[in-house]
Amino acid sequence: VITSLERLKGKENITQSGRKIDVCANISSREDIEAVLMSDAGGIGLFRTEFMFLANEAKPPTEEQQFQVYKMAAETMGSQPTVIRVADLGGDKDFEADEKEETFGYRGIRYLLDKEEMLTTQLRGILRASDFGNVSILLPMITAVEEVVTVKKLVKKIMKDLDDEKISYNSDIQIGAMIETPAAVMISGELARELDFFSIGTNDLTQFTLAVGRGNEKLQRYFNQKHPALLKMIRIVTNNVHLEGKRISVCGNLAADLEMTEFFIKIGIDELSVAPHEVLGLRKKIRDIQ
Ligand code: PEP
Ligand code: MG
Repeated sequence: VITSLERLKGKENITQSGRKIDVCANISSREDIEAVLMSDAGGIGLFRTEFMFLANEAKPPTEEQQFQVYKMAAETMGSQPTVIRVADLGGDKDFEADEKEETFGYRGIRYLLDKEEMLTTQLRGILRASDFGNVSILLPMITAVEEVVTVKKLVKKIMKDLDDEKISYNSDIQIGAMIETPAAVMISGELARELDFFSIGTNDLTQFTLAVGRGNEKLQRYFNQKHPALLKMIRIVTNNVHLEGKRISVCGNLAADLEMTEFFIKIGIDELSVAPHEVLGLRKKIRDIQ
């Protein structure tokens, strides 16, 4: 099996009838970058940076430490995309070890906007790395246009600071949002006027749509990422984003479900982002589709 998949390296992600879809890889550490290269993915579709923060125990990584990791990712990927998600801390990925119940919705962009210094440090690291490859910024847990406007203002301010410090960066860096709350689905048209790209996080979208905590063992049988409500939302958000001429990917676990591949291609999803070891199996599935 391994050898027949290996033979797909360098091949296109294209169906028998010529429809194409990009396949990228999800990573969560510096160590995973090498695996992306080996996997022959078309880039890094999701860098879950929060694990770098959690690994460092009580202290968030410094700007320099972050810059070095993001720069390495960008240089390794070259012209291929490196999508860096700002830390999705809080909730079940808890940095300050609060009570879980209390932190259910206190995570992602909500958490970061309360910790402007931490967010600024990370955005500076990402912006500096953007000079070394095809880097973009992804915002987790978005539920409102205002959050996006606030982050964009902060990015502008940081760019001005970097100009003053004569540090180079990509001033056209793309900014995107995770679609992982029902609110984000409903306002996806408005979000698409503010942002450059989107990525559907089916893990959280399932949790928040079906009221099934991701970690709740008692509710596991209700955690159905293929619930008709989810499929409908995925269609709606894809249409809304495409109406504004923007790109949309799926990066939650559902992206790797081979029973779903044909559906994603049919509705026009631009990219699937999966674990590095899932890339070639997904490519095989795509190439077998009519
Ligand atoms: C998701 O929610 O589907 C997602 C990709 O983000 P994470 O799993 O890191 O929360
Ligand atoms: Mg998520």
